Amino acid sequence: MTSDILIHHARIWPSVDGPLIDDGKILIRNGRIAKIGQFHARAETVIDADGLLVMPGLIQGHIHLCQTLFRGLAEDRPLLSWLRNVVWPLEAAHTPDSIRASARLGCAELIKSGVTAFLSMETVRHTGAVFDAVAETGLMGIVSHCFMDEDSGYPPLTVDLEDALAECDVILEKWGAGDALRLAVAPRFALSCSGRNLREEVSYARERGLLLHTHCSEQVPEVQEVRRKTGRSNVDFLNSVGLCGPDVCLAHCVHVDERDLALLVETDTRILHCPTANLKLGSGVAPVPDFLAAGLTVALGSDGAACNNRLDIWNEMRLAGLVQKPLLGPEALPARDIVRMATLGGARALGWEKEMGSLEVGKKANLIIVDSNNVHVLPSDDPASNVVYAHASADVLMTMVNGQILFEDGRLTTIDEEKLREEVLCQKQAMLKRAGWDRRKQSI
Ligand SMILES: [Zn+2]
Repeated sequence: MTSDILIHHARIWPSVDGPLIDDGKILIRNGRIAKIGQFHARAETVIDADGLLVMPGLIQGHIHLCQTLFRGLAEDRPLLSWLRNVVWPLEAAHTPDSIRASARLGCAELIKSGVTAFLSMETVRHTGAVFDAVAETGLMGIVSHCFMDEDSGYPPLTVDLEDALAECDVILEKWGAGDALRLAVAPRFALSCSGRNLREEVSYARERGLLLHTHCSEQVPEVQEVRRKTGRSNVDFLNSVGLCGPDVCLAHCVHVDERDLALLVETDTRILHCPTANLKLGSGVAPVPDFLAAGLTVALGSDGAACNNRLDIWNEMRLAGLVQKPLLGPEALPARDIVRMATLGGARALGWEKEMGSLEVGKKANLIIVDSNNVHVLPSDDPASNVVYAHASADVLMTMVNGQILFEDGRLTTIDEEKLREEVLCQKQAMLKRAGWDRRKQSI
């Protein structure tokens, strides 16, 4: 039994689709929201929100925690060279210790920026170490084990299907259908797995009720190569092996045509939109207003630090709006739609819509306190436009997950930042040495 927590004097924005509650209270019991609104209550712990904005914790729909250690190492390359010459060799050089450091670093950044849950794609080995690292931080997340078989184009990351599924078995045995941490199955993308293995991975996930997560139609050469190999569009091919549906999250979807869109709608597939990564790798702009108009669930993600380089969901919100406007006009993608992607959309994509995405009685106490009195926000009182266009991640004052405060007064409560800095520098050096990194060429 944990003690009750009462947040009072808050400017509560419980849901993107609802109004603000001024001078409101939230009572938290056993990690969940017990009461919200205006009422009288006592609690062992009282947090004075002092008129600040209290809103649902933000949700990162697509990241790679294993790549946080690669930040700044894979600049100015197109996707396939970015993967084959830098990212995959570095992933192959990971050990459990380096991947733990990488995940911890990513989690620290997420927590400080007000993220309370995420969907990540890890690499083909050591995914269990990511679970261990995330569990220590208190964050909620769905951690995907990555699959790459004989067609991966980078032999050191090739793992037999049986061995990959055995690693999933070990993780499931330890973590099961966890309350805060879950496993997902992630074929890396259409070109990294054979059709037969993709089908096997899909049935493994569906038999166990696990989410499926992959990259889709990020760049034109990728789409062309899938068509050359399979005779189908990328979305059509993924659908043919079972990789479409409400339990499937597709990252990017930049290059989709009308038939692809119809397939995505028909199958109610989830979209993970990563605007910064799409710009930085020169991929393009995903047709997000079309996705939303068609009724698709869209979440927002930063992708990995190797291609972004920040895991900052506030950046993604702002950019998600800005990139559409030169193409479609200033009316495109209103701020409220963007906040929905980072809250309820993310929750729905992760299959956690009953647990998070809005502040409601019975849902997890996953919430943030945001400094709405900062000069760069005043005097606007429209929370949607403030959150998307005026606020920055540094305005997050407190992050709570499952009723546990993970960040407060500028300090992380579950991660020792000083130790983390040392660990990260030391693990990065060792990883680059193992990978045979050439400092002058900035590649392997
Ligand atoms: Zn990605």
